[in-house]
Amino acid sequence: MELIDTHAHIDGEAYAEDRSEMLVRAKQADVVQIINFGDSMESSARSAALAESEPMVFTGVGVHPEEVFKMTDADDEQLAAWTKSPKVIAIGEIGLDYYWEKDQEKRALQREMFIRQLSLARELDLPVCIHDREAHGDMMSILKTEGRKNRGVIHCFSGSWEMAAELLKLGWYLGIDGPITYKNAVKAPEILRKLPLERILVETDSPYLSPQPYRGKRNEPAYVRTTAEFAASVRGEAFEEFALQTTKNARELYSLPSKV
Ligand SMILES: [Zn+2]
Repeated sequence: MELIDTHAHIDGEAYAEDRSEMLVRAKQADVVQIINFGDSMESSARSAALAESEPMVFTGVGVHPEEVFKMTDADDEQLAAWTKSPKVIAIGEIGLDYYWEKDQEKRALQREMFIRQLSLARELDLPVCIHDREAHGDMMSILKTEGRKNRGVIHCFSGSWEMAAELLKLGWYLGIDGPITYKNAVKAPEILRKLPLERILVETDSPYLSPQPYRGKRNEPAYVRTTAEFAASVRGEAFEEFALQTTKNARELYSLPSKV
């Protein structure tokens, strides 16, 4: 059994006291690889360093929409420089967040940064990891135009079945996280049942979005197993089969080594 936590933020303060124990717990839960994502230039630097020092950790570098600022050529060059390491395998976490950002000018700046990083990912021939919160309309219109030649995952997918169907048609993967396990999740399990297994990735978004029974506490990569077990049962599939295919999906998208 091999699982991959395809989306985490374990480079920060939340794990300052017990990072190595947390990684041991991940291994005990059969998590063999973790993809950590930067959300600012600072955390991308930390994330790239963590991937160098921890064999099981790989990383994406990028600027998250909540960290909105006017990117420069120097920022692009720095992001590209990090990707020279074989442990830096994606551009992310990038995207749009209209839940936290209500200001129209800053939303426009988010779109500009997002499009700029999509273009960088194409130049570098790397997959992207996308954050989309309450920005589904603009997200889809960008992915159909500027982003039509990108590949990657919509992490923690929160859209409708119609949106999922369009994304599948465009070749995207969809990320499934802890909230799928919450009692009030109704729409998400219905969508999950309809997704082709070949296009699902499982992720924690640690330290956020803990699955039940850890809801409200700090999340960690070991708990990707809880979410994967739940997702397999919702879909009526054997956990082993679900784990095998979603791990294969992650390795294909991110070109991860299969030997651990
Ligand atoms: Zn994230």
